[in-house]
Amino acid sequence: MTERKHSLTSDELRRVWQSDEWKEFVGKNLGDHCSLCGSKESLLLHHRTFVYKLESYMDSSRVVTVCKRCHHLIHPHNVTELEAILKKNRDRLQRKDEL
Ligand SMILES: [Zn+2]
Ligand SMILES: [Zn+2]
Repeated sequence: MTERKHSLTSDELRRVWQSDEWKEFVGKNLGDHCSLCGSKESLLLHHRTFVYKLESYMDSSRVVTVCKRCHHLIHPHNVTELEAILKKNRDRLQRKDEL
């Protein structure tokens, strides 16, 4: 058994973010305000610790609710893609509601 030392690849992350399990995890763990600034808008989950394994990604003890603005301050480089996927998911859910 080999221990992984690199972070999750963007492919792995994309698969997680698009999964129903992740949506369910977010639904259960997303708070109603940003833990940094208290904002109630554009909230998302941020991982406090670096995640090396997919199994650890959906661990409620590792995530904290932050708003989009604070998340950009935490790590400005890799949030754009996550936001794009979240928006797509939201749009899809809304469309489903309308049907
Ligand atoms: Zn905030
Ligand atoms: Zn983050």
